[in-house]
This record gives sequence, structure tokens and C-alpha cells, in this order.
Amino acid sequence: MVIAIDGPAGAGKSTVARAVAQRLGFTYLDTGAMYRCVGLAASSDPDSPAGEVAARVNIVLGDRVLLDGRDVTEAIRTAEASEGASRVASDPAVRAALVAKQQAIVAGGDWVAEGRDIATVVAPDAAVKVFLTADPEERARRRAADLGQLVEEVLKAQHERDVRDQTADRSTLEAPKDSIPVDTTGLTLDEVIEQVVTLAVE
Ligand code: C5P
Repeated sequence: MVIAIDGPAGAGKSTVARAVAQRLGFTYLDTGAMYRCVGLAASSDPDSPAGEVAARVNIVLGDRVLLDGRDVTEAIRTAEASEGASRVASDPAVRAALVAKQQAIVAGGDWVAEGRDIATVVAPDAAVKVFLTADPEERARRRAADLGQLVEEVLKAQHERDVRDQTADRSTLEAPKDSIPVDTTGLTLDEVIEQVVTLAVE
């Protein structure tokens, strides 16, 4: 069974998805971490097409994120890595390679998969499809607090990322037709987790 959690940067997807997975005894799949890994790998191999890099790399997700055996848990969370991920994510060859890996992962067992295109592309048959949103200022405030950066700077980078992420097959600012929108603005984390768990066990 797959629970799909999509939504824009800073909506709280990772925290919510991880907590929901723990509550339900499911495994958490962070697809953004995979794009972040490919961004990192592509930047250190500029001569290879990013799609080839995406198909070739070995990514292990868990408490630590391993890229070809190297621990990149912290390296994939920098502002540059966010930028690099968003850039490679607009390459259809990268998306095809990562979607194939993601579909192979969720084919067995129970998963809470989090990303931008889970409900639409990776797992269109997901049992529950949640689209998490929050207004842009709130998203930027949360990210700034997490990263220890200025809200204005985060807001600017977030806007650029939102615009770039807003392409045909990964509409990140609007809920896909069959997804349930959950606006987290003004809600506590526990309230959001409760809402998603309720949807999943209904
Ligand atoms: O969710 P996270 O911020 O870690 O994702 C990093 C970037 O990877 C996003 O800005 C987006 O460009 C890309 N991404 C994607 N599809 C996904 C997950 C992430 O395009 N399923």
C-alpha cells in the first residue's frame, strides 16, 4: 500500500511523511533526497548527461543517505544542493530514471512516499493521495527556521524553485484532481499528522 504525499517546497512534507510512516509502521520514501543525490553527482561529473548519472548512481536512503557508498546526508541539504536538485529535476531523462527506481522500491510493502509527482506519476494507484500546502510566507518561515537563514532570502529562492518546479508533469502548487488538499498554514505538526493518519486509516 502506498500513501502519496505531494506538495511544494517547505509545506512540511518530509516531517509529516516521516511521522505518518512511523505511526502506521510503513517505510518512508524521500524522493526529493534522490533528486538531491543526482544533483550532487551531476555537479561532480559535468561531462556526463545528467540522465546517465541518474541511471547509474546507487542511492541508499535511510537514517543516513548514501550516494555510491559516500555519506551525503548533510551535503544534500545545503542551499546549493536544493538548487542543483531542482535543476536536474527539470531534465526528463533524470525524471524517467528516478521514477523507475522509485516504482521498483514501492512495488513491495507499505510506503509513505513523499515528493512532487507521487500521486500523478510514481504511484497513480496510491491508496491515499495527500497534497500538503501552506502559504508561501509560512513555508519560507519554516524553512528559514530549519536552515538558520533569513526569511527574505529563503522566500526568494523558494519562489524561483516553485516556478522551476511548476512544469507539466509535476504541478507543485496545485493539488492534482484526485488528491486531498491539506492546508497546513496555522496548523501544528501534530494536527497535520493526525489529519493524514485519519485519511489513511479511513
Ligand atoms: O523535496 P525536496 O526539497 O527535497 O526536493 C528537492 C527538489 O527535487 C525539488 O525542488 C524538486 O525540484 C525535485 N523533486 C522532484 N520530484 C520529486 C521530488 C523532488 O522534482 N518527486
